[in-house]
Amino acid sequence: MSFPITEATPPRFTAALPARADVVVIGGGVIGVMTAWFLRERGLSVVVCEKGRIAGEQSGRNWGWVRQQGRDPAELPIMVESLSIWKSLAASLGDRLGFRQTGVLYLARTEAEIAGFEAWTEHARAHQLDTRMMSAAEVQAMLKGAVAPWTAGLFTASDARAEPWVAVPALAEAAVEKGATIREACAVRGLDLAAGRVAGVVTEAGRIACDHVVVAAGAWSRLFLGRHGIRIPQLSVLASVAATEPMPEIFPGNAADDDFAFRRRADGGYSIAPGARHDFFIGRDAFASLGTYLPILKKDFRSTTYRLAAPRGFPDAWGTPRRWALDGTSPFERQRVLNPAPNLRTLAAVQDSFAKAFPALGRPKLKAAWAGMIDSLPDVVPIVDHAPIPGLTIATGMSGHGFGIGPGMGRVLADVVTGRAPGHDLHRFRLARFSDGSPITPGPSL
Ligand SMILES: Cc1cc2nc3c(=O)[nH]c(=O)nc-3n(C[C@H](O)[C@H](O)[C@H](O)COP(=O)(O)OP(=O)(O)OC[C@H]3O[C@@H](n4cnc5c(N)ncnc54)[C@H](O)[C@@H]3O)c2cc1C
Repeated sequence: MSFPITEATPPRFTAALPARADVVVIGGGVIGVMTAWFLRERGLSVVVCEKGRIAGEQSGRNWGWVRQQGRDPAELPIMVESLSIWKSLAASLGDRLGFRQTGVLYLARTEAEIAGFEAWTEHARAHQLDTRMMSAAEVQAMLKGAVAPWTAGLFTASDARAEPWVAVPALAEAAVEKGATIREACAVRGLDLAAGRVAGVVTEAGRIACDHVVVAAGAWSRLFLGRHGIRIPQLSVLASVAATEPMPEIFPGNAADDDFAFRRRADGGYSIAPGARHDFFIGRDAFASLGTYLPILKKDFRSTTYRLAAPRGFPDAWGTPRRWALDGTSPFERQRVLNPAPNLRTLAAVQDSFAKAFPALGRPKLKAAWAGMIDSLPDVVPIVDHAPIPGLTIATGMSGHGFGIGPGMGRVLADVVTGRAPGHDLHRFRLARFSDGSPITPGPSL
């Protein structure tokens, strides 16, 4: 398959739309696909509408880390469940996911980083995870040929990796095999409401009547919900990634420090990326939400490159309309796949850091570079909740770590939609926290 998945990638999911379904899911990323998968398990009819391509946006562009380590305590139990779902999916789908439990290793240089790692081990203990602190010597022994001055590490052997742009389309195929209808190149323009509740959706290919809608629209959720009067303080940052040519194995899993992150890939190369650097496009939403983002802005200010305007057609571009009629082209059809250019300067710095840490390997040669727009919320945890419009559920703002937790979130969402007890405390993920005066406390985002 060509990579990354873009509008030029031929559609693979072209099912005809039914006139009616129990649930319509907006968005064919890992969250929408896995929600559909679990809704089928519960016997509901479900349609996934994807404006571009399955896994064309974040779910096919991410690092491929499936990690429990460093999670917000409220996400952790869902992630523990998610990991066990990944394992059973990998067992039933053969090697289509590229899933391997090769561990996640965080690397520290400073006392403050070590203290952060140590504090997190308390959450690991609460869930009986195999997380452990590592000495400098142990880190050195684990990373073949490393010379960087890491003074400690945090390691979870049961954490895993998977191949995003292969895995998520494979999961979508599995959902179709279970009976879900998935349609690419099919934007949902808006909700069809009757007596104040969800009666259907209006897509570019016609209306689908339904009782429930799940908004799993990634970086587009704020725009979509805003048209229906629901405000969420979601913003997106551009994150750049590169794939190296195949190279000797220095570590079979995923590792990161503040400068750079790397993951072994199934093809023998590494996916490499800056540990913390990203680009941010200033737009109307950014101004509107500035206040709520101050706590993380303070932390991330220096690691962010600010740019004056998003590319045309992006959700927070200056010219993107916030209101549109349902019988005309919507912003979702004008921008099928967010495919921003990667920041090559940032990636060059990553190549340098990698070469410095592993001098025997030399500067890694890149075979591809890409970027994705990470959708985030001010406390770095998602919204997973019913919306004020009956029949509408929101599942968005996965804040840079939705790939690993996707299967677990899919299971939770299927229960939220069908009114069953989700089995985990979702209080931290409620929509109202942004409007009821609750203090906004960012998660550990280690
Ligand atoms: C560079 C990068 C690295 C990352 N690394 C990791 C990692 O290692 N581990 C991890 O767990 N997470 C990681 N993440 C985060 C993870 O990729 C996301 O949290 C996750 O993929 C979000 O899934 P989603 O389904 O919510 O959104 P998306 O994958 O963005 O999917 C949303 C979909 O909705 C569609 N859509 C939007 N509006 C409409 C509409 N109106 N009609 C129809 N379709 C619509 C979009 O086209 C899109 O395909 C990373 C993200 C990036 C960008």
